[in-house]
Amino acid sequence: VQVLERCMPRVTEPARHEHAERMSWSVQDLKSAIMKEQFVPYFQPKASLADGQVRGAEVLARWNHPEAGVLGPYHFIPVMEREGLIDLLTESLLHQALQASRTLAENGTPIKLAINASPLTLQDVGVPNRWRAIAMEHGVPPERIIIEVTETAVAENFIGLLETVTRLRMHGFGVALDDFGTCFSSLQQLSEFPITEVKIDRSFVMRAPATPRGHMIFESILALSHRLGLDTVAEGIETREQLDFVTSAGCTTAQGFLIAKPSSFATLRTLLADIPAP
Ligand code: C2E
Ligand code: CA
Ligand code: CA
Ligand code: CA
Repeated sequence: VQVLERCMPRVTEPARHEHAERMSWSVQDLKSAIMKEQFVPYFQPKASLADGQVRGAEVLARWNHPEAGVLGPYHFIPVMEREGLIDLLTESLLHQALQASRTLAENGTPIKLAINASPLTLQDVGVPNRWRAIAMEHGVPPERIIIEVTETAVAENFIGLLETVTRLRMHGFGVALDDFGTCFSSLQQLSEFPITEVKIDRSFVMRAPATPRGHMIFESILALSHRLGLDTVAEGIETREQLDFVTSAGCTTAQGFLIAKPSSFATLRTLLADIPAP
């Protein structure tokens, strides 16, 4: 029996960006861009479906490139991983996110921020201690930070990531299983991996409302997750129909362009100031 790809390929095709396509960056260019904090966090709110309140936001990397403008992650994450710079980039974003978290708490809107972590970074068991130290340096309790790891990463290297993720949890960080449903990971593994939250992939959210079968699968995922005591986030909500569906299915949280697009910190603050504090 031929074993087929266990996970759906991740879409790595960037939105075409003419200027970026003509550019190639040396390791030195990339490193100095990190040091100059040209890589900045954008923030996409997550709304609680029980009451519509924003209690969290995901940090998404953007490159404020001096000539090309704002570049999305597909332009630089793979390069950073290839060149061994992903840890440095992630720590730069972590510092900036922690600063943002501190400011939000001081403003009376202490929402949780979620950071995407590459599996390459999470293979290093020294990371949890280091990140806890960085969080403390900024006066932010790790409980206010969620680390997102993709289901694919976990399926491909369960044992390799288990130790790091367990330590992150011991230090108080939340851990989200990202892009859930793009991979046929075993339910056994799901139940044994110490996560706090499941993020159901957009491709799933798009298909689910359309057919009875889609409904059934979606509801089974929610039932299992809730029995495991996990929060459930529906990703990539674009339509009212999708929002209504995931709400009535019992998802706890929603994220997507319909609710809010990723934005700068200034915009996030305005958005949070406009709604009553949680
Ligand atoms: P992701 O973690 O699954 O993040 C969600 C992506 O979907 C984001 O794309 C977001 O802008 C987009 N999105 C959110 N709502 C909607 C919607 O309603 N419709 C549609 N069509 N898209 C929506 P983005 O910012 O381009 O990021 C792409 C991927 O790059 C992320 O996918 C994540 O895997 C990776 N990434 C982003 N920042 C980082 C980072 O700091 N470190 C690492 N390792 N990866 C990152
Ligand atoms: Ca994510
Ligand atoms: Ca995702
Ligand atoms: Ca995704």
